Amino acid sequence: MRLLAWHFDFHTPGYVRVNTNPDVASAARALRDAGVEEIITFAKCHFGYAYYPTRVGTPHPGMKGDAFGDLQAACKAEGLKVLAYISFGIDGQAGEQHLDWCQIGPSGSRGRPGHFISVCPFTPYTDDLMLPQVAEVIERYRPDGFFFDTMGAMGVCLCEACRKSFREVTGQEIPQNPDDPLQATYGRFRHDRGVALIARVGDFIQARLPGATVGFNQVGSLPYPERMPASITRLTLDPSTQGPQSLAFSLNAAYGSTADRPCDVMPTIFNQGWGDWSLSPDLLLRQVGAAVWARGARLYVGDRLHPQNRLDRRTQHALSVLRDLHDAMAKEMPPESATLVPDVLLVHSPSATQGEDMRFFFDGRVRDRLGVISGAHHLFLDSGANATVVGEAFLEKRIDRAGLVVLPEVPALAPETEEILRSYVERGGHALIVGRPPRVGGQPLGWLGLSFEEDPWQDHIYVPPWGDAPEVLVRGDFYRAALTGAEVICPAIPAWDARHGHRYGWGIGPACESPSPYPALACASVGAGKVWTFGTPILSDYAQSGNWQQAVWWKGLLDRMGFPRRAFLECETGGVELVVYADARTTWAVLVHHAVEQLVGRWARSVGPLPAVPVRLHVAPLGRRVRQVLAREQVLRFTVDEDALTVPLVMDSVWRVVRIEWEQFV
Ligand SMILES: [Zn+2]
Repeated sequence: MRLLAWHFDFHTPGYVRVNTNPDVASAARALRDAGVEEIITFAKCHFGYAYYPTRVGTPHPGMKGDAFGDLQAACKAEGLKVLAYISFGIDGQAGEQHLDWCQIGPSGSRGRPGHFISVCPFTPYTDDLMLPQVAEVIERYRPDGFFFDTMGAMGVCLCEACRKSFREVTGQEIPQNPDDPLQATYGRFRHDRGVALIARVGDFIQARLPGATVGFNQVGSLPYPERMPASITRLTLDPSTQGPQSLAFSLNAAYGSTADRPCDVMPTIFNQGWGDWSLSPDLLLRQVGAAVWARGARLYVGDRLHPQNRLDRRTQHALSVLRDLHDAMAKEMPPESATLVPDVLLVHSPSATQGEDMRFFFDGRVRDRLGVISGAHHLFLDSGANATVVGEAFLEKRIDRAGLVVLPEVPALAPETEEILRSYVERGGHALIVGRPPRVGGQPLGWLGLSFEEDPWQDHIYVPPWGDAPEVLVRGDFYRAALTGAEVICPAIPAWDARHGHRYGWGIGPACESPSPYPALACASVGAGKVWTFGTPILSDYAQSGNWQQAVWWKGLLDRMGFPRRAFLECETGGVELVVYADARTTWAVLVHHAVEQLVGRWARSVGPLPAVPVRLHVAPLGRRVRQVLAREQVLRFTVDEDALTVPLVMDSVWRVVRIEWEQFV
């Protein structure tokens, strides 16, 4: 199981006394005793101050001695690795001293003198200050690597240098109207030069500090899901500290667990995230920690260091909560040699957040576009599926072991991804397309056995229930489709006399008594496999509305699709996550209980006790005979038939590992 790592935020105004009464030795010992293997501590903050006596940048005016160097030395003495934090795109001092280095957004420069100021790395800032400061830190301290933050620096900038370089590349001015067709060119321009820049910074570090850890916050993670250049060795998943936390960290850990390099998932210990000193409840810390460790990602805890360069009491408390959680989970989690074996892959495409033509790359609103993948993760989790999230770039490596591949309202796919997916289905795989099918090279995916009209027919429909229940409402554009090889599994039921874009008062209309001839769900055979299309955007609707009927219906759908499943949960309340590992003789089902999180304003809290939720874990024997089923070293009772081994459980703790030991192979 991955160890714990700790990130100390340290953005400190110039008038604050820093490092005047340090206790780095106790801090390092406490971190080591809690099982922390690596920390991030500050070389340079958003104010632009360095926390070591720099000759290149601006030392913190209130600092005595060498805050960074002292903490690094103490941590190294205890065997911890240390990464230097560099604020990449916000540097108050640089912005104040060099107006021409400021990043200029659509409404001017961002920040104010004496505080944080956004800077543009495509000005001399990079070569005259940032890289020389990186070189200075390497020369003086030989840290284990660097963590760069504030990557909004890769976003929209109208500074003189950026306008000049866009003009040189395209012969045009940077477009400012969001509907300008040139936005696609500008998005691609931002992307290509941004990725080239971080590759250059990574290479710069690797040349001077071979084997260094190098990470750029968020880049390569859910908001920007693409393969990173080789000199970037780490992905950092640092989701919003606002809104639901427990499921958000589960989603991030899921993405991280299928990426091509180590991932750090970074929650904070605070009630209101990075800017707070009030602690998050212990239960939420444990839920988030368990969700991250369940997926095999590393928990990199966000915290703050006291300006005196010593640990705060809150840090001590959080360290003890997470040390206990780690120690308890480590006894039961599968060994490193076991493999994560998700049945369902939810494909996360760059087009979902950047747009089909890259126009939204780092446009400042990317988190708003994570609703679909969040909804997909949540709906499959509530349906009891053994599912994970995989970046489009990493699908090929994972697809052969998947029972079902889902395209969750993906606007566009790369042509090579279409090939990979089609060949998987032709070999007998199952794919489910949700929402309007993605485009490939500007054309709709052509082998679904359906042809959709261009304009939506309804903006909400109902789907027939599987059993004796009311029809299930799904909000979102519905397009009529002609069948060109697929068969209708569920017809769409329109609302009574409804028309797209019109409203019954404030709301939607009641379901018609009989269905339309148009498919809500269709299925086509492709080679030896099947492709299913559910054309209405139920995943973004679920993210918005949490319509409980949809979760029940979705569970019924997964039960009926007939794709191979290693394991799934039946849990009437939803909210219990299933993560499955296996090796030749053992299957591990790791369960995480996400219940009781409340939102107060924008902030999440979980105050116990957790409800005791009955769940039934089903595991496919695949011809094997069960030797025994264990949890917390207690033998559990189970039933077994041809299709499934069933373990009834009561989920009354944050996490549970159920271990199924198999007798023999047939
Ligand atoms: Zn610029």
